Amino acid sequence: MLYDKLAGIVAAGKISHAWLLTGRPEHTLEQAIMLAEALLCREGAPGGQPCGRCASCRKIAAGNHPDLQLILPRGASVKIDQTRAMQYMANLESYEGGRRAVIIHNAHTMPPAAANSLLKILEEPRGGLFLILTAPLGDSLLETILSRVVWVRLPENLPLGETDSIYTEEYLPELQKERELAGLMREKCRRLFELLPGDGAQLVVLARSFKEDKQRSIPVKRQMRVFLDELLACLHEQAVVNVRRAAGEQAELPLSGQLVFDKNGALQAAALVEDARRDIDGNVNGGLAMSVLFLQLHAIAAGC
Ligand SMILES: [Zn+2]
Repeated sequence: MLYDKLAGIVAAGKISHAWLLTGRPEHTLEQAIMLAEALLCREGAPGGQPCGRCASCRKIAAGNHPDLQLILPRGASVKIDQTRAMQYMANLESYEGGRRAVIIHNAHTMPPAAANSLLKILEEPRGGLFLILTAPLGDSLLETILSRVVWVRLPENLPLGETDSIYTEEYLPELQKERELAGLMREKCRRLFELLPGDGAQLVVLARSFKEDKQRSIPVKRQMRVFLDELLACLHEQAVVNVRRAAGEQAELPLSGQLVFDKNGALQAAALVEDARRDIDGNVNGGLAMSVLFLQLHAIAAGC
């Protein structure tokens, strides 16, 4: 199912030519494809949901819609030749004579040159062409891009659909890889939250536990980025739980497991995670950046 907020926007006919979906990677990719299906649906997506029966919906379900282009990061990032290919496609007529859609998954990994070629398309929208970007967080994208998209934040607890019917074999391994990686990194976050109240000795060991995943060809920096996204989600959860418990509500910690930070501590920690993300995107040694981050988080946790 398309997330109801997105379906609501589609149903209301407020259809923008550019969208940004932020949230967990496994949600954003799935919802981006559902949104493309709704936008391209020949039946006009009744209630904002793709009908699932028309020729266009069936082709997307089968993964062979000629007017839907899916761009997934190759290795650690979306590459410039991928956005060039998209630019080329943007200038073509649609195969089927209807609407067309391009999805750029994890658009925050685009290098500046690729982001700039994207801007050109955003500035001069072509009739019937929809651009759907996804990212874990919106603020990792250029302000000039953000100002030109309809930004929808997907909730943490969005149920995952029946992907088998939606994705081709070509998309599935990539999606599966995303899910596995997110799951592994979430485990690491839980471990971090277990260790933070301790004496800190184990933290450096954990910081150095990011290893090249040769089997699945996942570079260390990609793992670290996903880890930091998961960590931000955990810190957000800690801040929210503090507020809700202070209001006398019951609130669980499904992501991080135990409450380590008070509200201010969680916000302070989130700012440090943002810094670490910038360091890792730059040329800083990732293992070192992680060690420094973990020890800083340890110090904040001790003060909470
Ligand atoms: Zn349809």
